Amino acid sequence: MEQNLIEDIGEFQLLYQKKGLDGVKREINRDMKSDEEELFFRLFDKDGMRIYSSDLSSWGFLPDNQELIKQVFSTEELIFQSMRIPGEEYEVKAVYGLIAPDTLIYFGESTEETENIITLLSNVFIVMLIIVIPLASVLGWVMAGRAVKGIKEVSRIASEIEKGKLEQRVLVPAQGDEITQLVDTFNAMLDRIWVLISEMKEMTDSIAHDLRSPLARIRVISESVLSNENTPPTFRSAASGTIEECDRLSQMINSILDVAEAEAGALQVTKQKVNISQLVQDACELFEEVAEQKGIKLTCRLQKDCYIYGNIQELQRMLANLLDNAIKYTLANGQVSVALTCNRQNIEIMVLDTGVGIPESDQARVFDRFFRCDQSRTHDGFGLGLSYSRAVAHSHGGDIELSSSLEKGSCFIIKLPIT
Ligand code: ADP
Repeated sequence: MEQNLIEDIGEFQLLYQKKGLDGVKREINRDMKSDEEELFFRLFDKDGMRIYSSDLSSWGFLPDNQELIKQVFSTEELIFQSMRIPGEEYEVKAVYGLIAPDTLIYFGESTEETENIITLLSNVFIVMLIIVIPLASVLGWVMAGRAVKGIKEVSRIASEIEKGKLEQRVLVPAQGDEITQLVDTFNAMLDRIWVLISEMKEMTDSIAHDLRSPLARIRVISESVLSNENTPPTFRSAASGTIEECDRLSQMINSILDVAEAEAGALQVTKQKVNISQLVQDACELFEEVAEQKGIKLTCRLQKDCYIYGNIQELQRMLANLLDNAIKYTLANGQVSVALTCNRQNIEIMVLDTGVGIPESDQARVFDRFFRCDQSRTHDGFGLGLSYSRAVAHSHGGDIELSSSLEKGSCFIIKLPIT
């Protein structure tokens, strides 16, 4: 409002220069006609005498402040006033200022209009606060929830895939927005990875398969060299080394083919009723001696009479792999414990050891073909045992979970449904 008053004074000064005092009076009258109740004007000469005044009937008693008039004439500066008129509800903002060296204007206006606007704005703001903001928040929350739902699903599946479940796909949401595009691209990428991995596996399997016969022939030739009495001793030792390597290689090839077979078996398992309690008991007895020789204490706590439908040979090998690893990767004086529990739906076999443990970064990969942790390279193995075991668990509708902590030990839990 003060800014308006300053601008008005500037206009009156210009008007005075162009049209003199009469021009200013005419302008005052014009302003009064348009906004009579809100405005007042007074003009004074250098002696502080009132030379003109607007209609003050609606302004009650409004004093002239001779002190201020004198001050303005001497300093030529504006003096603003905020005051309350008795009987009036609203404040008045007024100003004393010169429009010519010998003429002073004192004018002002009621703050009624401004205050009404402020009150209106406050009311609108309060309504917004009460209605619009909660509504907008709820709407925003719902919309953000919808937008984030797709992303959450993508990241959930991504973490499943990180654990090795490559066959997972994200369900495409119905609405055709950016999330749908993201999901489509993500699924297409997974399809492509799946195809590449399947092709790689097929290639490994067929190489393994094709290597079998030449390997067998190399072994036969080496055997004949070894059994020939005329073979010099250096050739004899070379032939025996070749036979050893052939055996290792063919063991590895067989393991690759077993894994491939077990993975293929995910579609068709020849199931029979297996007493899993007995099967685990037998495995414990089988490995007791190996553990004892290494100075490891093997304990088994088995719930009796747990049965599942499955392939007995595959289940035996799966368990043997886990027990073999637990003993292999545990130092002397360590402990390996096996526990079996079952209920109406599932069985759980836990193989726990106090061995070297598996670094967190490797835990998702130990089930991959040929993967071996760095610290295990000194031990025998091809890195195929766990991928075989997981393939068997999958083909029985279950899975193997791993938790491990480096230098403390590992815990593998086989979870299988009963039927
Ligand atoms: P391997 O023939 O090398 O034992 P596996 O597939 O059975 O192959 O295991 C893969 C890798 O996982 C192993 O090389 C080893 O690094 C790690 N591993 C498996 N079981 C254990 C265990 N109980 N403790 C520590 N490391 C283990």
